[in-house]
Amino acid sequence: MIYADNAATTKMSDAAIQAMLTQMQKNWGNPSSLYAHGQDAKEALETAREQIAAVIGAQPREILFTSGGSEADNQALRSAAALGKKRGKMHIVSTAFEHHAVLHTLAALQREGFSVTLLDVHENGVVVPAEVEAAIREDTCLVSVMFANNEIGTIQPIREIGAICRKRGVLFHTDAVQAIGHVPVNTAEDNIDLLSASAHKFHGPKGVGFLWAKRGVPLASLIEGGAQERGKRAGTENVPGIAAMAAALTEANAKMAENAAHLTAMRDRLIAGLQEIPHSALNGDARNRLPGNVNFCFEGIEGESLLLLLDDRGICASSGSACTSGSLDPSHVLLAIGRVHDVAHGSLRLSLGEDITEGDVDYLVRSVREVVTYLRSFSPIWRDLTAGRKPFIL
Ligand SMILES: *Cc1c(COP(=O)(O)O)cnc(C)c1O
Repeated sequence: MIYADNAATTKMSDAAIQAMLTQMQKNWGNPSSLYAHGQDAKEALETAREQIAAVIGAQPREILFTSGGSEADNQALRSAAALGKKRGKMHIVSTAFEHHAVLHTLAALQREGFSVTLLDVHENGVVVPAEVEAAIREDTCLVSVMFANNEIGTIQPIREIGAICRKRGVLFHTDAVQAIGHVPVNTAEDNIDLLSASAHKFHGPKGVGFLWAKRGVPLASLIEGGAQERGKRAGTENVPGIAAMAAALTEANAKMAENAAHLTAMRDRLIAGLQEIPHSALNGDARNRLPGNVNFCFEGIEGESLLLLLDDRGICASSGSACTSGSLDPSHVLLAIGRVHDVAHGSLRLSLGEDITEGDVDYLVRSVREVVTYLRSFSPIWRDLTAGRKPFIL
């Protein structure tokens, strides 16, 4: 099997599994309990907080553990919105290709009276900082721009956008779920106020993540209950998951340069191979993208059938995000970069893992080429295109 869907989730690392087992077998006490057995769990929790803070250039007390990236996004946006409302600032700037955890929270905030400007991400899938600046108004309370897109992998000019927000006195949130552990992220240097992350995107377990909030940025809690996480996130902490997340992130960070160099070489080999397929196109900027992300459109085919036939060949891939697969709507990300419906339907995302080999890449290229050719052989759209009844777009 070739697992090429690392943007959907990653396999847990041995270090993460080991850290999780240790906590489950030894430190299973409640971190809020006063006896030593509980305090051992508390210590594991605080060690994890320190490890994570060290990787992203933050203070441990600025890290809040959550159930994952979605919760962190919800809490970041709701916190900034609550603060904005208090100050009579009810406008938010974001982008058209954010993850649904951000887009759907923004839609909910709109129903509550906020106004939202979604910036264009252009054909290359990269936000223009000057356009962020132009969109900021007197009543803007928050700018939220993802660090790297989960479908097309494009990396955003976060530091520049952050500098603009700082200059204008507006809070800046970034959904860094796809970036953390893969490309350098430094909360101090990148001018960020709020950042979301999720363990299962960097070889940690599912169901755990964190929200980083710069000191002084007040958080609103989404879950009422006990006083865990400084009263900002009630519920007994997921100590095994949190310890595993810290172990996974520490390892990913230590190997980042080496992994990125290998993945970039494999990515570019894969892109070069797939570009040979006629009437195909890479989605998103070729250079400004995550080391392991490849996303293509092939004209005249259906992404779903492509995935099923690749599955028959032992290839795990995706047509976009796992969250939208199963729905008939084309990806909002591909529409945002200007792909028309017909073309957006024929999309394929291959997100590579660190253990991918040249041989694997060549097998991927051969398989995609054969499956695309096969699907086109009985596609009515392809027949119209080749007969000249419809113009080719790609
Ligand atoms: C996966 C993902 C999320 C959601 O994270 P969960 O931990 O699965 O809730 C949010 N944003 C981006 C960009 C993602 O890729």
